[in-house]
Amino acid sequence: MTASVTEAAKANSELDPAAGKITLKAAAGEGTMRAGQWDPEQKKVVIREVSIPEAGPGQFLVKIASASLCHSDILSIEANNTATLGHEGAGYIEKMHSSVEDKGFKVGDPIGFLYIIGCCFECEGCMIHNIHCVTGKQLLQGFTTDGFFAEYAVVDYQNAMKLPESIDIKTASPIFCAGITAFHAVDNAELKEGDWMAVVGAGGLGQQATQIAKAMGFKVVALDVNDATLEVCKKQGADAVFNSRTNKGYVEELKKLTSGGVRAACVFSNADAAYAGVPAILRLGGVMMVIGLPHNPLNISSMDLALGKYKVKSESTGIPQRMKKAVEFLAKHNIKPEVQQRKLDDLNDMVTEMKEGKATKRMLAQNLTSIKTTMTLKKIDHEFKNDALSYDATPNYQPCIKLSFFFNKKPDVSDEQFHRYSSLVVCARHPLTFPPIDLSHWETVHADLTIAAKDFKACKIQRYVQFHQTADMKEKAKQLGLEHVAFDGCSEILVRDWDDWMKFYSSPEYARVMQPDCAHFMAFPIHVMVGCDNLVYGQAIPGEGSKDGITAETLQSK
Ligand SMILES: [Zn+2]
Ligand SMILES: [Zn+2]
Repeated sequence: MTASVTEAAKANSELDPAAGKITLKAAAGEGTMRAGQWDPEQKKVVIREVSIPEAGPGQFLVKIASASLCHSDILSIEANNTATLGHEGAGYIEKMHSSVEDKGFKVGDPIGFLYIIGCCFECEGCMIHNIHCVTGKQLLQGFTTDGFFAEYAVVDYQNAMKLPESIDIKTASPIFCAGITAFHAVDNAELKEGDWMAVVGAGGLGQQATQIAKAMGFKVVALDVNDATLEVCKKQGADAVFNSRTNKGYVEELKKLTSGGVRAACVFSNADAAYAGVPAILRLGGVMMVIGLPHNPLNISSMDLALGKYKVKSESTGIPQRMKKAVEFLAKHNIKPEVQQRKLDDLNDMVTEMKEGKATKRMLAQNLTSIKTTMTLKKIDHEFKNDALSYDATPNYQPCIKLSFFFNKKPDVSDEQFHRYSSLVVCARHPLTFPPIDLSHWETVHADLTIAAKDFKACKIQRYVQFHQTADMKEKAKQLGLEHVAFDGCSEILVRDWDDWMKFYSSPEYARVMQPDCAHFMAFPIHVMVGCDNLVYGQAIPGEGSKDGITAETLQSK
């Protein structure tokens, strides 16, 4: 989010006398939530209890998982905007307006999103930047309408995308401003593999641009006046760094290193001096990429442009149609912003630190949902057919702890070798064409080693079950239209208490025999769930304290 965009939005509403009346602020839904807003009277950010917004046409209600502070948020404060702050957010879809039910999203999806809302997303203006939408209805979240430093926010579906699985939603928010901008800058700097690119301004955006450029196969030289940020750039892969303040001969050194200058310079700094130094380091015909926005107009020689000495381009977060490419690249190459984890209640401190220039990393609030929530489940009037299940009855927790270890088979182990179940079933039908391959290491050797272990008995393990998900079962699962948990297998172990399990898990035999044996068939990482069965229907494992659930007999006796 950039200064010029804010100003354009302001200008827009000043030009249009009706703009003051247009309000896309979402209608209030049910309940209240906490939101961080600037209070011009107290001159500080306060956390207010406000109405949870309601998703209007084309919108989702999103439960915010992360929101981060960007330098341009300070501009919103300086303009005395009182809307909820924040234009960098990621979260889960909580509710959807009926008009967006066929747009490829569903409740619970983890999403990231941009922040210009209310525009049409398809006019000539919206193809350039949504701030230019011809409808004039565009509003900036965190500036002219409520943003993301709140438990919930509304989001236009056109602005949203599902997060790739490898992106952690709890730190995803900066991607949707800084990350995307850094990507567009590098991606459009007209570079070829092996070319030199300069990062001018080695702060957060410059650091991400460094990683992106390296992932694209470019060579990077970073320039800054701060040795600490240059050091970070170096750690993130910069081939060379120069302190342009303390190293008087840096231009000569850089030209020598790059055999005549860089092919492109992405300027993330907003200092006049940073821009002034760029023509000297560009090679003939190079690109000056304008990202940082100084207050003063750029001082660029028209003669230089006319003679093709260099050209000038610029990028920002851009339009949502372009964000997917950026986000998928960042996910694929595991490029993450450096973040500092804070709380919503810290927002005023975060703003102060940002203003004082003390922030070294993106400050990000997580877990914005407070424990006290107004959207709790309520008891409903229900006539129970089974007394054992009523609100007043005691739940039927079994006196065991259950550990479920979900894992995939190693890639070089075939489905038939992993599940004898599938080969037997297939072979029963085609006994001649497919002889059974009875080589499941998990079902045979591993199971035998487990049960034979000395501590298996000593630790009173109650049950050991191998749960197989074969290829044809996976196909069946996918027909259900739900999120598929695609593991090949799950080992379920029931123990009487946690100490018993830990004794087994930390036994020398486990380390010496069991663990190395896993390497024969198991791919890592292993996912684990630990919990307790509430037995609703069916028979219990016999033992002290266990009690059957409702059974066919109980039902019949009614
Ligand atoms: Zn931003
Ligand atoms: Zn438009």
